[in-house]
Amino acid sequence: MMEFKDRVALVTGASRGIGRAVAIELARRGAFVVVNYARNQSAAEGVLEEIRALGGRAYLCQFDVSDFSLVQEIIAKVEQDFGGLHILVNNAGITRDGLVMRMKEEDWDEVIRIDLKGVFNCTRAALKSMIKQRYGRIVNVTSVVGEMGNSGQANYSAAKAGIIGFTKAVAKEVGSRGITVNAVSPGFIETDMTYNLPKDLKDRYIEEIPLGRFGTPEDVAKVVAFLVSDDASYITGEIIRVNGGLYT
Ligand code: NAP
Repeated sequence: MMEFKDRVALVTGASRGIGRAVAIELARRGAFVVVNYARNQSAAEGVLEEIRALGGRAYLCQFDVSDFSLVQEIIAKVEQDFGGLHILVNNAGITRDGLVMRMKEEDWDEVIRIDLKGVFNCTRAALKSMIKQRYGRIVNVTSVVGEMGNSGQANYSAAKAGIIGFTKAVAKEVGSRGITVNAVSPGFIETDMTYNLPKDLKDRYIEEIPLGRFGTPEDVAKVVAFLVSDDASYITGEIIRVNGGLYT
């Protein structure tokens, strides 16, 4: 399946979890994938090896999505070096949970900076080359928690709800340039982010999920691949839930 063979894709936070699965899926379909990560170099190298073992093409690119000027610089260079940037998946994200009454200022700021401002930083930089090309596909990763709220995650819920507004606004700004901007909204997915949830809490969540299980990173990656494919050419400003029916 080489449907993305002429496409350059940047996936942020692609060393682990959902981003890793997205990078592998896009590479499997022929895209040249720039695998971004923040700190975990050995995990990122593992993703690169996995892609190459599948006969895919990929390149590692370490940067912190929350650093505005660095992101503008690096994405401009990616565009130059690889002859364009066609697909951007804004996936990098963190949690710093705590009840709002006791939340530290830095836990608020860090989540907003990485999860929300990071999406702005990368989108702004990527749009330059997408507008030149008159083609682009952007997918932002929001969360069920941004739609329904979650006790202990006011910072994360705010950032993820912010991504939904951002997605809809930017879709309106760039639609006429051949660029679509959508979001996927995963429910509970088996990754490092949810690995440390207490077992009784996990069991309680599973009881509330009609499909009776946590999702896999691949469940999300397939939907991202659809949204950046030609089959989704007429979809923009849309939020696609991938949550097993947890929230509809
Ligand atoms: P994860 O397994 O914790 O992986 C997070 C990824 O983000 C890692 O690759 C990490 O890089 C990267 N990252 C963190 N901070 C970064 C920064 N400042 N700059 C660049 N990269 C950074 O998380 P996940 O569960 O796959 O989540 C991926 C996305 O899906 C997030 O936006 C998350 O909010 C969203 N989501 C997850 C779930 C879920 O249940 N897991 C549900 C809904 C939405 P390093 O390896 O270098 O640290």
